[in-house]
Amino acid sequence: MKLKAKLTVGIGFLFIVILVFGILGITSIYKLRNDTDKVLTNNYETLVYNNNMLKSLDELPNNKIAYQDFEKNLLLQEKNITEFGEDDATKWLRKNFEKLKLQPNDSSNYREIRQAIQRINNINQNAILLKKDTAQSTANNAIFWLTVVFTILTIIALTLTVNFPDIIATPIKALAEGITAIANKNYSNRIHLKQNDEFGDLANAFNIMAEKLDEYEHTNLAKIKFEKSRIETIINQMKDGIIGLDEQKNILFINAVAEKMLGLKEQDIIGKYVADIALTNDLMRRLLQDDHRKELKIYADNKESYFNKEVLSVSNDDQVIGNVIVLRNITPFHELNEAKTNFIATVSHELKTPIASIKMSLDLLENKQIGSLNNDQKQLIDSIKDDSNRLLKITGELLNLSQVETGNIQLSLQPCSLINIVDYATNAVKMSAEQKKITIKQEVATSNVLVKADKDKTAWVLINLLANAIKYSDEQSNITIRIEHEVDNLKISVIDKGVGIAPKYLNKIFDRYFKAPSSISTGTGLGLAISKEFIEAQGGTIGVKSIFGEGSCFYFLLPA
Ligand code: ADP
Repeated sequence: MKLKAKLTVGIGFLFIVILVFGILGITSIYKLRNDTDKVLTNNYETLVYNNNMLKSLDELPNNKIAYQDFEKNLLLQEKNITEFGEDDATKWLRKNFEKLKLQPNDSSNYREIRQAIQRINNINQNAILLKKDTAQSTANNAIFWLTVVFTILTIIALTLTVNFPDIIATPIKALAEGITAIANKNYSNRIHLKQNDEFGDLANAFNIMAEKLDEYEHTNLAKIKFEKSRIETIINQMKDGIIGLDEQKNILFINAVAEKMLGLKEQDIIGKYVADIALTNDLMRRLLQDDHRKELKIYADNKESYFNKEVLSVSNDDQVIGNVIVLRNITPFHELNEAKTNFIATVSHELKTPIASIKMSLDLLENKQIGSLNNDQKQLIDSIKDDSNRLLKITGELLNLSQVETGNIQLSLQPCSLINIVDYATNAVKMSAEQKKITIKQEVATSNVLVKADKDKTAWVLINLLANAIKYSDEQSNITIRIEHEVDNLKISVIDKGVGIAPKYLNKIFDRYFKAPSSISTGTGLGLAISKEFIEAQGGTIGVKSIFGEGSCFYFLLPA
């Protein structure tokens, strides 16, 4: 039965209860009123007439009005015959009254009349008693039927009251439980309502929805599982070590390479807090250190290996939900780099001797004792000299670079006067400055000019900075070398009014082989990189400030 029909039946039943009770009550009361009416009107009136007649009889025969009263009440009684036997008794009364009118002094008439009245009274009193019983039985009947109907209706109403809320509450509860299960991702949950009403329809619709969700979840799960095993395969095939952490820093996964490097087994560490593993594993401890030195030297594959550490954040909706530590094996690059450095070192070393002998031969050629040269020959000799000088500079830089790359910078740190170094460097670049008519000025803004440094390396750096300043300055411009005190250091700045450096290249010019586009092409791009290594090896710092098109200021600081 549909819910609508059930509600209609329920409310209809209540309506019927009210109707039945109403009708029953009203008819019972109506019947009772009828019964009592009869008692009151007909029988009571008879008793009144009889009473009046008895009063009139007492005043007879002398009172004429008493005759008239008697006659009037007898007539009324004759019109008010309602009971069985009352008619005969009344007729008998009339007969005796007529006799009394003829023989007023015959006492037997009075007796007969009194007996007749008594008889009518008796008949009516009996009738009253009978009607009282009838009224009582009508009342009893009404009470009985009202009680029966009341009991039946109460039982039905009680059953309805007990069951009706359940008719609505039970399916709603089942639906609410089903919805909660779906909210908790329990898509296999179904609602079992075997009813043919709107709730049944709702349960069916719900079950269809849950089935679809279940299907969707399973296909999604299968997809996710497939993706997971695919990614696991990729991660395990990679040559790099990979460790995955969740947001609580527990280990989620680790691939074979990382397992080997760390000397740990996946099943022993999965799900464990990474900091706990780091307590007993040196390499893990180093991986967790938040240092910016990304390169790690690790003993792996029975040799010293180099790894580049990279920590990637895994985010979901801008929220970090974990990290992946990637250890890239850069040992082959290191080996190649080493081979390159050795090659460069060997080649530049081997080139130095022939270049030196070329320079010596050129000097001899210029010697007048050997023979005089014509102008063309002189020009050729000058050009060969320039080229061999440049070659010597390049081989020198390459040698320095190989020293830097192999970490073999030989330093002899000792107190030395900066003025001497500045003089030496200025002297070394004097010729090229003069060629461009550039003036090199010195500004010494401190009395203490002693630094703890390697004289040769510092001079090399300063010469390099000056050479660059000359190279990138216009003819007839000025270059200033400034010495000043800064906290515990001495700062040497080389300031030129040359081409300057575009801001986007400023953080790159100390990189090896970097040359700003459009800069003069003769150069290796190594000078500043080597300068940086030399200054930092001495515990100093090097930097640059520049305005593109207006000039540059290269400076370095060394401990005073
Ligand atoms: P290079 O041998 O090419 O001069 P460096 O390492 O000495 O190599 O310089 C790297 C780059 O820095 C140069 O190519 C040039 O673009 C820029 N640079 C260096 N010094 C100056 C300067 N004084 N003015 C403008 N640019 C400069």
